[in-house]
Amino acid sequence: MLNLRSRSTVAWDAPAYVARVVTNLSRPLPLREKEVLLTEAPAPLPPGFRGYFRPSIVAGSCQVAPVSGPVVTLPEELGYLADGDIVRVVPNVGEVTTLYRKSSPSNGIFLTEQCNCRCLFCPQPPREVADAHWVQTWQEAIALMDPRTEGLGITGGEPTMLPEGLLEIIRTCRNHLPHTALHLLSNGRMFNYASYCERMAALNHPDLVVGVPLYSDIPHEHDFLVQCPGAFDQTLRGVMNLARFGLRLEIRVVLCRQTVPRLASLATFISRNLPFVGHVAVMGLELMGYAKANADDLWLDPPAYQGVLAEAVGRLVTHRIGVSIYNHPLCVLRKELRPFARKSISDWKVEYFPTCPSCSQRERCGGAFFSTRERLSPFVANC
Ligand code: SF4
Repeated sequence: MLNLRSRSTVAWDAPAYVARVVTNLSRPLPLREKEVLLTEAPAPLPPGFRGYFRPSIVAGSCQVAPVSGPVVTLPEELGYLADGDIVRVVPNVGEVTTLYRKSSPSNGIFLTEQCNCRCLFCPQPPREVADAHWVQTWQEAIALMDPRTEGLGITGGEPTMLPEGLLEIIRTCRNHLPHTALHLLSNGRMFNYASYCERMAALNHPDLVVGVPLYSDIPHEHDFLVQCPGAFDQTLRGVMNLARFGLRLEIRVVLCRQTVPRLASLATFISRNLPFVGHVAVMGLELMGYAKANADDLWLDPPAYQGVLAEAVGRLVTHRIGVSIYNHPLCVLRKELRPFARKSISDWKVEYFPTCPSCSQRERCGGAFFSTRERLSPFVANC
């Protein structure tokens, strides 16, 4: 698992900033203000960069024309930073956070920690914090991203907790990254307000999909799992409003002890009532946050749900709704389900097993979360 945040041993007095990592010492002067130079080159270093990083293997400072701080020796765990990546630096605590990795297919915009639900399996428990400043941070980062970026996720918390900020982020993506697919993960409750859907649709993003979790076809079961009375009704109205204003939709279902018994019925419910949904993603648990705390109540070993999963997938396919299985190694799925499995786990979270290198399916297989590796390992067998 990659660390996306770390601290250097150096701290200095300056405001936080966002910058692109570059390794070219001859960058045009006007661009340097929004770039940090990552280099092993000897002093003197070229002037004008927002900051200077030394790889951890080349420890020590060196002479530099001062701009906004000293030369920072990168902590070892951020040793993967490379040309085109984007970081946020908080000088007064020496903190460096990776916001974007150019070579990664799994980049996401973590917009806020706030949420209006408390899902029992939330891997990223929400916090009531004033974090609206992230909107501007991400806008600055988006402007520095590679325009060839294939896809970006927008997640949280619940991104619509910053309703205006979220619209700004989508607008910024549309303007700077018009060829980048956007996937917004939302509990859908805010889309209960048609005017908000209308405003999002009016942004005319060319490739936006909204992914909305629905955990049961029975309202009180969904409400219990998200720990919020009335959420099912709001989410369903939200889903319908999104479709009404022409926004593309995905439904997300989590597999756990509480959802599996109604899985096939939920598939029928979606097929009959939400036929406009383009895609259903059936997801394995990530045992972090609340899911880790509740793991013994939530977890089901994969053999316990292969039959009902096959039934649910079959019903969706029959109704010509696209379906994928996320967060499962291929070998824990029945053979007929494997074509639906996707490599869905972010590259910085994915883990494989000791026997995987000799597996014929290694290239196709999406592996497991670091957090579920132990529970899944008894069911792993080379294909
Ligand atoms: S053995 Fe490893 S690579 Fe092969 S299917 Fe299982 S988890 Fe994937």
